[in-house]
Amino acid sequence: MWYDQQKICFECTGCGACCKRHGEVYVTDKELAEIINYMDTHHITNPLTHIRQEHEGLWAIPIPEQGACPLLGKDDRCTVHEVKPWQCRAYPFWPEVMQSKDTWTEEGLFCEGINQGKEHPSSEIEAQMKDDPFMDD
Ligand code: SF4
Ligand code: SF4
Repeated sequence: MWYDQQKICFECTGCGACCKRHGEVYVTDKELAEIINYMDTHHITNPLTHIRQEHEGLWAIPIPEQGACPLLGKDDRCTVHEVKPWQCRAYPFWPEVMQSKDTWTEEGLFCEGINQGKEHPSSEIEAQMKDDPFMDD
C-alpha cells in the first residue's frame, strides 16, 4: 500500500466536523444494541427517532444538512463515545480514504486532525480496516 513507506499522522482535535457532515452513520445490529444498552444504562434520552433500516442487519442514522448526528452532545462530544460504531472509531482510516495519497490529502481538507500529531504505522491502519463490518457488502 502507498502508506507503507509514508509517515501517516493523525490526531483528533475534537472539532466535531465529522459528526456534522451530511450523510449517514451506519451501524450494525450488534453496534446498535450496544449503543441502546449504553444509552439505557447512562440515562441518555434516546435521540434516534430518524434511524432507518438499510437492510437486514444494517441501520443508518441520518445526519441532516446543516445539522449533526443525533448522538452528538451539546459540547460537541459523542454521547456514546465508549461504544461508537466502527465507522466513527475507524475514521479517518476508511478504505475509501486510504486508497491513495490523493484521497488521504483530499480528506485532510475536511478533517483538521489529518497530518497532525501521532504517527500511525501501516500495520495499525490495516488492522483497523480489517475490522470493517461492511467489507463484504
Ligand atoms: S473532523 Fe477530524 S479532527 Fe474533527 S472531530 Fe472528526 S476526526 Fe476529529
Ligand atoms: S455516533 Fe458519535 S462519533 Fe459517530 S457521528 Fe455520531 S456523534 Fe459523531
